[in-house]
Amino acid sequence: MALSGLDIYKLLPKTNCRACGFPTCLAFAMQLAKKAVNLDKCPYVSAEAKRAIEASSQPPIKIVTIGTGENKLEIGNETVLFRHEEKFFNPCGIGFIIDDNEGVNIRRKLEKINRLKFERVGQKLEVNLICLRQQGNPRQFTEALNLVLKDTPLALVLMVKDIQTLQDALQISKERRPLIYPVANQDYLSIAKIAKYFKFPLVAYAYNLDELSNLVQELDRAGVADIVLDTGRKSVADKIWDLTQIRRLALKKNYRSLGYPVLAVAENDDPYTEAQEAATYITKYAGIVLLKGIDSWEALSLLTLRQNIYSDPQKPLQVEPKVYPIGQVTSDSPVLVTTNFSLTYYTVLGEVEASKVPSYIVSVDTEGMSVLTAWAAEKFTPESISNCLNKFKISEMVSHNTLIIPGYVAVMSGELEEQSGWKVAVGPKEAAGIPSFLKNLQ
Ligand code: SF4
Repeated sequence: MALSGLDIYKLLPKTNCRACGFPTCLAFAMQLAKKAVNLDKCPYVSAEAKRAIEASSQPPIKIVTIGTGENKLEIGNETVLFRHEEKFFNPCGIGFIIDDNEGVNIRRKLEKINRLKFERVGQKLEVNLICLRQQGNPRQFTEALNLVLKDTPLALVLMVKDIQTLQDALQISKERRPLIYPVANQDYLSIAKIAKYFKFPLVAYAYNLDELSNLVQELDRAGVADIVLDTGRKSVADKIWDLTQIRRLALKKNYRSLGYPVLAVAENDDPYTEAQEAATYITKYAGIVLLKGIDSWEALSLLTLRQNIYSDPQKPLQVEPKVYPIGQVTSDSPVLVTTNFSLTYYTVLGEVEASKVPSYIVSVDTEGMSVLTAWAAEKFTPESISNCLNKFKISEMVSHNTLIIPGYVAVMSGELEEQSGWKVAVGPKEAAGIPSFLKNLQ
């Protein structure tokens, strides 16, 4: 929790010696609170005060990076319990568990996982991680790992049962900066030395929060900087309790030893149960969710949920307001007008493409509101539409003057015709009606 200027002042020497360049300790404290100066400017601050002030400037939930380059995953650094308070910043990583004894299935699965890429409302949705889990001996694990390294660029979680396997695996995968996940009762301090040496993130695993907190403190003392927490497989209710308590303690009580992102495993033989469980953990408050199912429907539903949870609730997803030519447009192509709310625009776009009638879509700046909301808020009005038509010079792109408006705002037809000089045709209320509407125009 960040300290206020007064809190910091209480920790300073209060001698007003001016060595920091400020007339008083209080003035210096106020600048420190604003992060406008460095604490090093005061030569007399005690080591204890320095520790307290520096600790207060750290984020309450540490940011942890797994992987490198384009496929790196950053998790943590969240600042709120509820997304309406601000927003959630670093989207939960979604990964797939592959066992090292799956033989030829490993390659097949990797091919399928590599294809789990989608586009929704103009954004790319992609999965993030492969978690390779040890079932056999070190050799079997490294053979499987070589296959994974060759066949996918995704970031890695190495779920290993013994130190020998871990050392062998890190030698061949160190370029990927994997997340080390020791399973079974292992010598955590030896593993901590390895994580510290490579500067790799490490999963701290303990079944209850007290044990987890103690383990994190040990790892911290051992020099492990990047930690991901896990409290193991539990009922969904118990797991949600853990996830919520960890987030609450980190944010509200400044509980440093739980101030790290959390990993949750949602593995289940029933894909529907697994998807529900994973969705619950994405919502509250996992930094990584691992599952087994690699079907497109499961990945797409989780990626869509994640996209919604990690969007800014105060800033709707928007497309650029402009004229979008769809298909091989000509001067005879129909002109449809809609708002710049991404979901609305892409829904209209999908239906126009499905109609196979080349058309212009004019996206009016409604600050990301949908049609009826924007109309009610007076952002989608005859005036704003007319201004948009003039601004983008649509009349120079087509040889007709017919404008198709959404059926829900038919009420503005007369005024829009008067203000814009365009003839207004009222389109369907629902986007699903657009293909037949456009085909009937021809
Ligand atoms: Fe206070 Fe330190 Fe600045 Fe002196 S140098 S005025 S003790 S904050």
